[in-house]
Amino acid sequence: MTDPTVPTRTVDAVVLGAGVAGLYQLHQLREQGLTVQAFDAAGDVGGTWWWNRYPGARFDSEGYIYQYLFDEKLYKEWAWSQKFPGQPEIESWLRYVTDRLDLRRDIRFDTRVTAAHYDEDRGRWTVRTDRGDVVDTQFFVSCAGMLSAPLHDIEGADTFAGQLAYSSSYPAGGLDLAGKRVGVVGVGATGIQIIQTIASEVGHLTVFARGPQYALPMKNPTYTEADQQRYHARFDELRETIPHTFTGFEYDFEHVWADCTPEQRREILEEIYADGSLKLWLASFGEMFFVQEVSDEISEFVREKMRERLHHDPYLVETLVPTDYGFGTHRVPLENGYFEVYHRENVDLVNCRRTPIARIRPEGVELADGTVHELDVLILATGFDAGTGALTRIDIRGRGGRSLAEEWGRDIRTTMGLAKHGYPNLLTTATPLAPSAALCNMTTCLQQQTEWITEAIATLRAEGRSVIEPTAEGEDAWVDHHEEVAGATLVANTTSWYLGSNVPGKPRRLLSYIGGVGTYRQKCAEEAANGYPAFTRT
Ligand code: NAP
Repeated sequence: MTDPTVPTRTVDAVVLGAGVAGLYQLHQLREQGLTVQAFDAAGDVGGTWWWNRYPGARFDSEGYIYQYLFDEKLYKEWAWSQKFPGQPEIESWLRYVTDRLDLRRDIRFDTRVTAAHYDEDRGRWTVRTDRGDVVDTQFFVSCAGMLSAPLHDIEGADTFAGQLAYSSSYPAGGLDLAGKRVGVVGVGATGIQIIQTIASEVGHLTVFARGPQYALPMKNPTYTEADQQRYHARFDELRETIPHTFTGFEYDFEHVWADCTPEQRREILEEIYADGSLKLWLASFGEMFFVQEVSDEISEFVREKMRERLHHDPYLVETLVPTDYGFGTHRVPLENGYFEVYHRENVDLVNCRRTPIARIRPEGVELADGTVHELDVLILATGFDAGTGALTRIDIRGRGGRSLAEEWGRDIRTTMGLAKHGYPNLLTTATPLAPSAALCNMTTCLQQQTEWITEAIATLRAEGRSVIEPTAEGEDAWVDHHEEVAGATLVANTTSWYLGSNVPGKPRRLLSYIGGVGTYRQKCAEEAANGYPAFTRT
């Protein structure tokens, strides 16, 4: 038995997570000559793309931009089979990256980090895992993901007598759904992908829908070799443009509502809608995020499309078409045949705003009016404790034994989403107040954040210093800036995981910075170029 107080290993950096960010962070720190130990609770690399193996899981960023852009050969020697590839292919891509960079030898899988405590006298962290590791490290770098702490809070789930599957940890080999009575709870981006994929396979599908969700149709062409060569040839151009756009996609807001006639607006919306991508959200009219009338008109445009697809059926429209928030102020998923599912004979839709789920029982799902929907398989796609959950579920203690879970339980504050006052040498990606998941192509944001961390550590070491920590004033200034930017948008008035509204008691704050990916990058670069004025470095 290992003595829990004796380090089993001493390293320069512990990296938490082996997904898109963790893999690249590990590579960069190793290139700098640091000894690094990465941990992941998953059985292999992939992060979100390892866990989310549910039917139909796929990108809704174009594969050719959801890429590492630091190495031309790495980019060009991988070719996607489709514009929006599915989860198995994505997992293979991350294994390809891992092997190319020889990362596996420094990653411990099936190992969950349970605690990380900072020792002020030594300026080092002690990181503990559920497998008995006790690692002494100078830097503790979190790449634990924005959407990796699943919410499983429906009463009675453990009593279900059939097969229960969480979308966030769906069985690797899948489930045999043929002929079965299957229920899906949740119609967010995940639920939509599951529902549209399994409807034709199951015997009967019952969808439990609470908050309605705008969704845009995806066009997902298969790539020929010529298509792959064409996008490969754009590598330099993509590397130049993507990091500087508002959302880290290749496209940017192209049109100004105020400059167009109603006919021109309609024409532009129709044309962009037909693209079959997230362009209508992220590259049409930026005013939709700031000006109520623009939001109202664009929302109505999307609602009209959804109503048509639902054949104007009053019950389907009431249950599935949002009316109480604007298009784009919650995360917009892409769908493929989703609305048509509800015209199938073998599909029933339950409106859980009218009649909420009361509990899960051995035989199925019981609603508040006592109705029981009997099921053989129940799939829960009920979302995540976004932004904070990955770290607050770990016992993280900073200076003076302060607890990150307690601090974020009161107020969610960070310095540029990259660090937290009171937690020296804790550096973070995909945490609140940096651009992430919402309005951001994740690979763009994660590459920038890991590169900033790498440079901060390199500079610190080059200067013969060993500890970096944000100042209280620097943090206050960032939080104020974040609030100002968020408060100017219509997103600030909504309720979704974007603002932590899906987790009871979670302090309300827009989790992602939405001042623009390019602007954020510039601010981070200035912080470094100016000698890190928002940090103390000793
Ligand atoms: P989500 O958007 O938070 O959706 C959770 C769903 O579960 C909502 O419909 C929610 O209803 C419902 N729900 C929760 N508790 C419920 C209850 N007790 N009764 C009935 N319904 C309940 O979570 P998600 O779909 O997993 O997506 C989270 C994020 O992951 C996305 O926004 C996206 O950023 C990311 N994602 C990305 C991709 C991709 O890139 N391809 C795919 C999937 C997910 P309410 O709305 O009423 O709370």
